[in-house]
Amino acid sequence: MKRAAAVVLILLLTACAREPDGTRRQFFALGTLVDITVMAPPEKADAALRDAEQALLEFERRWRAWNEGQLAVLNGQLTEGQPVILAENIASGIRQARQLERESRGLFNPAIGKLVELWGFHQEERKAEPPPSDADIQVWLDAAPSLNDLVAENGKFVSRKPQLWLDMGAFAKGLAVNAAIEVLKKHGITDAIVNAGGDLKVLGTHGERRWRIGVRDPRGPGILAAIEVSGPVSVFTSGDYERWFEWEGRRYHHLLDPRSGYPAMQTTSLTVLHEDAARADAAATALFVAGDDWPLIARSMGIEAVMRVPAEGPVEITPAMQAYINWEDRQPEYRVIKP
Ligand code: ADP
Ligand code: MG
Repeated sequence: MKRAAAVVLILLLTACAREPDGTRRQFFALGTLVDITVMAPPEKADAALRDAEQALLEFERRWRAWNEGQLAVLNGQLTEGQPVILAENIASGIRQARQLERESRGLFNPAIGKLVELWGFHQEERKAEPPPSDADIQVWLDAAPSLNDLVAENGKFVSRKPQLWLDMGAFAKGLAVNAAIEVLKKHGITDAIVNAGGDLKVLGTHGERRWRIGVRDPRGPGILAAIEVSGPVSVFTSGDYERWFEWEGRRYHHLLDPRSGYPAMQTTSLTVLHEDAARADAAATALFVAGDDWPLIARSMGIEAVMRVPAEGPVEITPAMQAYINWEDRQPEYRVIKP
């Protein structure tokens, strides 16, 4: 449904439009509408935009964990206990993810694919079916697969647990956005934004002013706050409104707590800033899952700027985030929390 709407939107918009002060390109990738603006005339921007689009589409193929993705094939071999050789671009992504998993104390867990599948969130359109049974969740919890279970043996990698299924959904968008920005920089672009469905990275400025990023209100239409930044910086949000279903009057969303096997319920939306989009993406997920303990995980992941909308109580922001926020006339009740 979301996808169909986005496709219609793309058809209505011209694929590569001239902004008054920049050149813009929109297309569908990474399961969302991607919107790139480069602060340069089309003569300079078009080739850069084309190459950035190619980079994003390549990342989508590489990191798709189910169906015909490169990672899906790898997952199949790993669950059968086969030793695999990892292509360098896959291996380096896994190394980064492993480091982030450790720093997040396992709350960002890219080996979580089988649990995601139990909940049905691996499907583009989740079937109307009940949540998984406690018994099935317990089997996954007993195995507790993590990237530490992917071990090197005679130059190849083997999985120590059949329950290990790689799902980079909480992090691949960050890797891809980093790559797209690098492509733009190689073309000599100094001011740009790569926006993948609200998760984004900016370079430089938007003309004379900073880039202005709206953070969606998780519980209503419209914007909670505007974040004003000059790059390079990434802004990533994890929200419980992205993918969810209702069953017998209860709401279940796609951000799963690897400690309980259930959706993490203490937070509705959490936004982080960091230069590295991959770290920002993993951290938004990990801090969301951490619930009220997010300051601890922010410290161990080196994240200073955080805005959190808890399930109950006022909005929470760190002093570093406060410096970038413009509430305008919408200022909600909020608390400043030092991580
Ligand atoms: P979005 O993809 O909506 O931007 P995230 O970056 O937070 O949001 O990624 C959510 C996706 O990551 C889920 O759809 C699922 O595939 C996977 N996932 C869910 N919980 C976790 C977790 N605790 N650690 C790692 N990945 C997770
Ligand atoms: Mg994430």
